[in-house]
Amino acid sequence: MRLHLKILSLLLCISLVAQAQITVIKAGHMFDAVSGKMLENQIILVENGIIKAVGSNVKFSKSDNIIDLSNEWVLPGLMDCHVHITANLPYRNIGIEQMYATESTSLRAIRGTVIAKQFLYNGFTTIKEIGNDANYATADIIKAIQKGWIEGPTIFYAGKIIAPYGGQSHDVNPEHEHLWNFEYIDADAPDEIRKAVRQNIYNGATVIKLVTGDNGIYGVEEIKAAVDEAKKYGIKVTVHVRNDAAAGTNVILGGAAGIEHGFELDITQLQLMKEKGTFLVGTDFSFDNWYAYGMDSATATALTNTVTDRLKRAYTIGTKMAFGTDIIVNLPKLNRVQTNLKVLNSWKAAGIPPAYILQTMTINAAELLGIEKSRGLLAPLFYADIIALKNNPLEDIEAIKTVDFVMKEGKVIRKD
Ligand SMILES: [Zn+2]
Repeated sequence: MRLHLKILSLLLCISLVAQAQITVIKAGHMFDAVSGKMLENQIILVENGIIKAVGSNVKFSKSDNIIDLSNEWVLPGLMDCHVHITANLPYRNIGIEQMYATESTSLRAIRGTVIAKQFLYNGFTTIKEIGNDANYATADIIKAIQKGWIEGPTIFYAGKIIAPYGGQSHDVNPEHEHLWNFEYIDADAPDEIRKAVRQNIYNGATVIKLVTGDNGIYGVEEIKAAVDEAKKYGIKVTVHVRNDAAAGTNVILGGAAGIEHGFELDITQLQLMKEKGTFLVGTDFSFDNWYAYGMDSATATALTNTVTDRLKRAYTIGTKMAFGTDIIVNLPKLNRVQTNLKVLNSWKAAGIPPAYILQTMTINAAELLGIEKSRGLLAPLFYADIIALKNNPLEDIEAIKTVDFVMKEGKVIRKD
């Protein structure tokens, strides 16, 4: 009899353990990404990695796993829509062709695991990795994260960059033709673009990236071919645009989901983007970031002013924006995310309100990535990607550098 009771109580214990543990987050201040406002004293219930309930009157039990963030500013996990986790170039000594020639895919992948973890630990729970990762290094990083071997954010992945002949290389001699194919696919006609899109998707791409304006300019038909082919797989196209006004207009008219950089976009183009719903991922380098590329102070200042002006115009016009950083040169003594966040200097110089900057890192980014119903907001049925800050980001956006709590899909990654 006694033994039976013991077995019975043991079974009861097992069944209790098997029941999903509910985690309760007491959020002193919680960012509502839709309104851009802070809500006070909110309770967030998390079960099986998903947010179950949010509000000021949510009931919970004392036996739940309670995380007290009453003195913190709680936000949805942040998103960076333009990163290169496997690439790093020396400070003020840029030679991208040299990186292609000297770094193997495995070395790039190892670097990528380190930087992916930096993103997650610094509050970026979703990133868009946009190419320059050797021979599909990031595809394996994503697999390693999914297998639980390493920690990292959710990664949207472009695979190899599709570009007119030459990729983004310059002055490679004919004996070394195709050196750039380690990182790029040459595609110079609509059919070649369709083939390149399929190759990338086969190798794990979940977003397609084209480059126009560097070694050639894609016409509207070529952009349309990429958009149409990717759409068959439910995938969006984003395009690096530099240097040429026509290049930008072709991308907008071709129906791409986003423009990366677009430093030279004029008012008419920004207006057209607004009408078409094209996102701007502005990668708005600060002076320090430009300077890191080896340019002199005058050039770095001029370029900083260009991006700041473009940011101002895009914000005033109402062009949709998603946050993206594009850093491939770490600043001395700073890790990748700390270097990335130097771009906030440009956003501040452009006078963009902190609430809007946070929206570009949450709901706007989620919309661009096509995950607006599952991430980027603290609401029921969304993934529990949740971070907390020591300081109020609506007072000063620099507060996003004070992350001291990170939860990824319900699992606590960091709690200082
Ligand atoms: Zn980039």
